[in-house]
Amino acid sequence: SGARVRRASNKRLPEYLERGVDVKFTDVAGLGKIRLELEEIVKFFTHGEMYRRRGVKIPGGILLCGPPGVGKTLLAKAVAGEAGVNFFSISASQFVEIYVGVGASRVRALYQEARENAPSVVFIDELDAVGRERGLIKGSGGQERDATLNQLLVSLDGFEGRGEVITIASTNRPDILDPALVRPGRFDRKIFIPKPGLIGRMEILQVHARKKPMAEDLDYMAVASMTDGMVGAELANIVEIAAINMMRDGRTELTTDDLLQAAQIEERGMLDRKDRSSETWRQVAINEAAMAVVAVNFPDMKNIEFLTINPRAGRELGYVRVKMDHIKFNEGMLSRQSILDHITVQLVPRAADELWYGEDQLSTIWAETSDNARSAARSLVLGGLSDKHHGLNNFWVADRINDIDTEALRILNMCYERAKEILGRNRTLMDEVVGKLVQKKSLTKQEFFTLVELYGSIKTMPPSI
Ligand code: ADP
Repeated sequence: SGARVRRASNKRLPEYLERGVDVKFTDVAGLGKIRLELEEIVKFFTHGEMYRRRGVKIPGGILLCGPPGVGKTLLAKAVAGEAGVNFFSISASQFVEIYVGVGASRVRALYQEARENAPSVVFIDELDAVGRERGLIKGSGGQERDATLNQLLVSLDGFEGRGEVITIASTNRPDILDPALVRPGRFDRKIFIPKPGLIGRMEILQVHARKKPMAEDLDYMAVASMTDGMVGAELANIVEIAAINMMRDGRTELTTDDLLQAAQIEERGMLDRKDRSSETWRQVAINEAAMAVVAVNFPDMKNIEFLTINPRAGRELGYVRVKMDHIKFNEGMLSRQSILDHITVQLVPRAADELWYGEDQLSTIWAETSDNARSAARSLVLGGLSDKHHGLNNFWVADRINDIDTEALRILNMCYERAKEILGRNRTLMDEVVGKLVQKKSLTKQEFFTLVELYGSIKTMPPSI
């Protein structure tokens, strides 16, 4: 399974195309009557001729309105999957954060590709980031956004009524959109996707249970009633957290209890999350994303199961950090190279902080991992594993403390540079992963590796020590 993803022609553009999207309406649960409206959009593609002959105008854009995590993106994909057309997607928040002038040209490039690959669905996530009423934002950021918005309007008009390229956009704030966007022929159709009710939550849990080994007597209703107020993304998270716990305990089946415990973790996380500022979210996201983006280069660490920036769940279950284990180390179970890789990953939070926030704004988010790196580097030297081009080749040098520290420092510096080098050549990938993490709070293995495939520059170049 898994949608086949084509590498975008220009790798620096974050637009992407998915051919053969394999998401179907059955993957989206708890829709109720909304499903009928979405089936109609599919018909615009499959029965376009019939509409045209009868003079029925096909909308150029459809607005999916609703809070984050209710499945808007998933639905847009399902429309493409059901219609059997290509799927392009981009997050509007990417337009505005990047350099001046890039937003508009990205929109143009996106629509050009969509047209060349028609029929297609163009999905614009978080439309309000760029579609806010003009004049509401002041300053240069506002100008850049206006240029992007204007280009979007032009692009939408280019397809009016033709039904070859249909744009689906998501927003949580349809009320603040620029009136020009919602004029007839543009986003003239709104579909509201509310948070799921009790039955909806049960159905969503069941959809995600399909891919997991669930106990036969699992009480979905119990979990659904425990999760009042949660959206699909959170319910999907619960199933993932439960599955990781199950694996950790060496069990092979997910039980009601696993899900209830996972629901509590998610719930507690939800409460903690309320107090976080958007800058904190972003900082944690940069930290998590950077570790995963570097780790994916290393053979021993590339099995990234799940990424999350949710508190609690995030600290324990985010990207799996491998702590340097002295026993393992002394038994020679780790190669010199994999120890260096571990040290490098431990230094990533510090390196990311420097790259994204600058030397003078370093935070303490990396204090713990930096400590791990320091002791690992010392162990490496003490264990005589750094002897390659150096005189320190045995235990008998252990009393030459200065030499050991100097050598450990040299290794730390080298690994630090390596971390920065990998991050430096993966800035686009970082932007993508950070953007998605901030928005969705967590990424599945598949979502992460799709981004790596599209935007990553992965090559290992082991340093010699
Ligand atoms: P939105 O675009 O509204 O923010 P997404 O579509 O990105 O939400 O949802 C994130 C993930 O949460 C989905 O990929 C899916 O795994 C899960 N999810 C959300 N809503 C549903 C739903 N109604 N049915 C099944 N899964 C859902």
